[in-house]
Amino acid sequence: MIPPGETIGILGGGQLGRMIALAAAQLGYRCHVYAPEADAIAADVCAGFTQGAFDDTAALAGFAAQCAVVTYEFENVAAAPLAAITAHAPLHPPVRALEVAQDRVAEKSFVEPLGGRPARWAQVDSPADLAAAIAAIGTPGVLKTRRDGYDGKGQWRITDAGAATALDWPGVPLIYEGFVTFFGEFSVILVRGADGRTAFWDSPHNEHDNGILARSTVPAPPQILAHVAEARQLARKVADALNYVGVLTLEFFATAAGPVFNEMAPRVHNSGHWTIEGALTSQFENHVRAICGLPLGDTALAATGVVMDNLIGDAARDWPAILSDPANHLHLYGKAAVRPGRKMGHVTQLVL
Ligand code: AMP
Repeated sequence: MIPPGETIGILGGGQLGRMIALAAAQLGYRCHVYAPEADAIAADVCAGFTQGAFDDTAALAGFAAQCAVVTYEFENVAAAPLAAITAHAPLHPPVRALEVAQDRVAEKSFVEPLGGRPARWAQVDSPADLAAAIAAIGTPGVLKTRRDGYDGKGQWRITDAGAATALDWPGVPLIYEGFVTFFGEFSVILVRGADGRTAFWDSPHNEHDNGILARSTVPAPPQILAHVAEARQLARKVADALNYVGVLTLEFFATAAGPVFNEMAPRVHNSGHWTIEGALTSQFENHVRAICGLPLGDTALAATGVVMDNLIGDAARDWPAILSDPANHLHLYGKAAVRPGRKMGHVTQLVL
């Protein structure tokens, strides 16, 4: 057990790290952020900050030596240099979870033997592979980069074989997925303690705009709720197979044929931000409790319903209007520059 007063290291300097640090502070921990950028918004609320590249093993070792435990808020970090951390401090969630989740082929190959059903997919390393994948799976489909994709970046809708031929070849490892017709999208967010105890939050209905999460709503509509039990079974198997410690998120499409696995994130997740006010214990607090070996808090709903809206780009400039409704819980991430498509904050409303 890592008692309050100790220092938690956080790899990555974005809003997820910032919200982990705020929850950790409530429990009496200090946090130390490691991030490549000079203006890491997580570091603004932390006791310590190391600016360094994710592959700088000397800097990573120096950082870990100052921490009782290290976690990450960003999964597109190369796994090998993390040995410099584990030589000094425990790292949760496990590196294996990171390796699986950062590669769409590894991720799908991992969940399939556990009973997970992704969209039909094929690995694509060349235009010839893509032609073969389209012949086998058909169109429409989505071509995605295997790695480093987020918020719908690194994705191309393939409407027909001609569109594939016209594509400016990205030159990185890819995956082709058949297009899934769904009622809606939802996520399973769980926390698993070091003792294997697992708890789930209510699954939100997630609505995207241009591949970016726009809104999460709890409870999800009945068409989605019908699939949550099966999706949770898979999520629990994934967590157990990885001997996972911390918060884990799996995203699904709700379809006529059941839940179709989309992807997983070995970390706290944007679709769980509603838990800060909407659950008895937030995803951030339970992540801290899990990685420090503390008992987990109750994940039950704190309201009849919850709606979380992301503030993307210019939407964050509306903060005065948002605050004029006393029912709104406003979160701004402190990012200096507003850019289209950039997550600047979120706002949560409880239905009491
Ligand atoms: P991803 O980064 O894979 O989560 O994709 C971002 C969003 O694009 C998803 O949340 C879906 O709205 C959409 N999308 C991704 N893959 C597919 C698919 N195979 N079929 C239908 N929609 C998809």
